[in-house]
Amino acid sequence: MFEIIILGSGGSIPVEGRNHPAVLVRFEGWNLLFDAGEDVQRQYERVNAGLNKRTAIFISHMHADHILGLPGLLLRMSLLDRMRPLDVYGPPGIVDFIRVSQDTIHLGTTFESTVYGISSGTVFSFDDLQVEALEVDHRGIAFGYKVEYQRPTGTFLVDKAKELNIPKGPLWGKLAGGESVTLKDGREISPIDVTEPKPAPIRIIYSGDTRPCDVIRKASKNANVLIHEAMYSSSHSDLADKRGHSTAKDVAELAKKANVDLLVLTHYSPRYGDGSEIISEAKETFSNTVLARDLMKINLSLDGNISITQSDD
Ligand SMILES: [Zn+2]
Ligand SMILES: [Zn+2]
Repeated sequence: MFEIIILGSGGSIPVEGRNHPAVLVRFEGWNLLFDAGEDVQRQYERVNAGLNKRTAIFISHMHADHILGLPGLLLRMSLLDRMRPLDVYGPPGIVDFIRVSQDTIHLGTTFESTVYGISSGTVFSFDDLQVEALEVDHRGIAFGYKVEYQRPTGTFLVDKAKELNIPKGPLWGKLAGGESVTLKDGREISPIDVTEPKPAPIRIIYSGDTRPCDVIRKASKNANVLIHEAMYSSSHSDLADKRGHSTAKDVAELAKKANVDLLVLTHYSPRYGDGSEIISEAKETFSNTVLARDLMKINLSLDGNISITQSDD
């Protein structure tokens, strides 16, 4: 089960109930945090995210609204004696940002932190989970991220394995892990002989800030959840293009073409108040759309079922 928690749904200026951007993806004891907008540390607390969990932080780009919460979050983890190491990934400027924070505001941590200036491609993996950085079209270097979980095989079929006289033990493990094996009698067994077909991957896309772009369009193909910025409505499409953002209509069209299950619109300009103009514009094109709100939780099961709950803490 994946749990996606919107910690900050605001864009540019934080307003009541809409903090700066931060999206937490929780899976098998991991906290994967995408962007760390101002005050993310208190949002973390509100959802009991756990400051000592296994954690990786992915920064989309070096605009202030996406990173100002990072030193505060690291400091809070230190004050609460986090011991586990932690990795931060982002555009190359993130390395200088952390170094300057260490030198000027004496940001020290009780735990080992490694900061990676990345380029596009797979940046993180754990078992069957991968995070890929996608270079998007904003201003300067900017990434979106794809979280993908792909099991190497379907369910292991014990009866089939017994029927084929495959000795129980490491060979079963290899086959279940997607490896072919050769038995002592010379027979070659491939995973598909003793497993159900591979399930569809689970895919979650986070756009960061971007104009509508092909890299997100491709990565979103059949995605379960696409979390995309929608800074403007189409009445301000000139501004969107000039400032490197998307309109709600742009994103809805992208989501429709990509056949995503759920589109979550985030990072809309405070000029749209409660965002009703943004959500209604998107829904005209793609009805499976919701407007991100702070502390919204999206549960995504490994068979692709989605449920949404909203806490108004
Ligand atoms: Zn932004
Ligand atoms: Zn930006």
